[in-house]
Amino acid sequence: MKQIYILLVITVLLVNDGYAQEVIQRKFEKMGSSFEITLVHESPIHGQQLIDESTAEIDRIERLISSWDKNSQTSMVNRMAGIRPQIVSKELFDLIARANAIARLTDGAFDLSYASVDKLWSFTGEEIQPPSATMVHASVAKIGFDKIMMDAKKQTVFLPEKGMKIGFGAIGKGYAADRVKAMLLENGVKAGIVNASGDMSAWGTQPDGTSWQIGLVNPLNKNKVFSWFPLNNTAVVTSGDYERFLLMEGKRYGHIINPKTGYPSQGVVSCTVFAPKAELADALATALFVMGTETGINFIDQLPNVEALMINDKGKIITSKNIAVDEIN
Ligand code: ADP
Ligand code: MG
Repeated sequence: MKQIYILLVITVLLVNDGYAQEVIQRKFEKMGSSFEITLVHESPIHGQQLIDESTAEIDRIERLISSWDKNSQTSMVNRMAGIRPQIVSKELFDLIARANAIARLTDGAFDLSYASVDKLWSFTGEEIQPPSATMVHASVAKIGFDKIMMDAKKQTVFLPEKGMKIGFGAIGKGYAADRVKAMLLENGVKAGIVNASGDMSAWGTQPDGTSWQIGLVNPLNKNKVFSWFPLNNTAVVTSGDYERFLLMEGKRYGHIINPKTGYPSQGVVSCTVFAPKAELADALATALFVMGTETGINFIDQLPNVEALMINDKGKIITSKNIAVDEIN
């Protein structure tokens, strides 16, 4: 199974404009995933404090959007499905509104309300007994971003049917990466990269003035980067099914659900999306799994400032029109 490995190349070089600029980096676990923050700062102590603040910000976001935390506002919205509208914070309201705009843009391939079927599937890499078609049909009937009722004045969200549910699995880490970047920028950090488990938001340059670079590596030949991309104030997100998949009647299915059918998607093993914001890139990467390579790349080619690279289950790499891959295996 092929996958994209992302290689971040960072030249640790100092002294810029007379000030010593250092690259400060920390890896840590949050939101059940590994994060890495890289920032350029003249004070390592201050830089580390800012990373502490970043981890607190990620915790805060997790408390807002987690479906596991029974006390999160998201869980409240889900509990009140079919009962009554739930008042939420402006931040969550706006995030849901933006997610629904992406759902509309992707014709429902990305849909927060996919979550009503998530209990039917467990992506442990093992062979499973398929759930009954009746169960899948019953759950899929609850999906539909356009059913979600939002009242901006009252700041409420209402899932009108019992059993409806929203989940931020496909957009939460991208949102967290954008938020941390925004917070660091507000604190005067001129350059950095927030990497939320493959969802990266970058800004500024390395201390020597050169762009941050990421290299995409084909795992069949890990020593060889098949393409380098500069990250100039942009986000890049890679979503892959290599860890989370299931086998059903001998066939492999990835961890993204097709909201139209309720079944996990097939055919695509990895999607990398470049976009101005990690939130958008994250949601689009998920949508591309559902759309498949042909429709997916066609769709991306119509969006301004968005590029994508997809790998199908035959190992073929397909890219949007402005991406040049130096070497396609
Ligand atoms: P990852 O974070 O695992 O790299 P994604 O960002 O694509 O991958 O998110 C995958 C997660 O998104 C799934 O684990 C699930 O929680 C959620 N999800 C699955 N299908 C959809 C869908 N069609 N629309 C929105 N969210 C989805
Ligand atoms: Mg995603």
